[in-house]
Amino acid sequence: MKKIALRPIGNIDPWILEGLSQALGATFGKAVKIAMPLKELNHAYDPRRNQYRSTAFLDAMSMVEDEERALGVCDIDLYVPGLNFVFGEADPRRKSAVISLYRLRQERYGLPREERLFAERAAKEAIHELGHTYGLGHCGDESCVMHFSNSLPETDRKRALFCESCNRKLKKDGVIR
Ligand SMILES: [Zn+2]
Ligand SMILES: [Zn+2]
Repeated sequence: MKKIALRPIGNIDPWILEGLSQALGATFGKAVKIAMPLKELNHAYDPRRNQYRSTAFLDAMSMVEDEERALGVCDIDLYVPGLNFVFGEADPRRKSAVISLYRLRQERYGLPREERLFAERAAKEAIHELGHTYGLGHCGDESCVMHFSNSLPETDRKRALFCESCNRKLKKDGVIR
């Protein structure tokens, strides 16, 4: 069976990669491997914005033989032209996606650290972006992990789960059983 590859972009805490690996394995019923990190980040950096262009990382997410999807995980601020920032980006055609942990921590907003909340947010973003690579669009159900969010309250409102309708589509397409 082909695997989902989790590819660290730069230095990522092993514990969060482990948590993501478990969440993705449980959600998609597939093996997840933590792949070799991507070390070269400079090509994506935009000094005028002090942010990194997420699409540049999608270009660098090439997959090897035993992988069916690649998810890049970075801890730097991502953007796409036209938006102030993005939590992540997916490309169904490349079968790959990238998420950023940068804006998911409570400490960033002057609040006390909450590791479990941080890990939950990361899992939701990871499942959401991979959901796009498996053909799902945005979902109208606010509690569905495929609901669009560009703020943490929206992320926190949804669950790390697909709604019944998204679930049905994934089953029909043979992604999950
Ligand atoms: Zn989305
Ligand atoms: Zn849904």
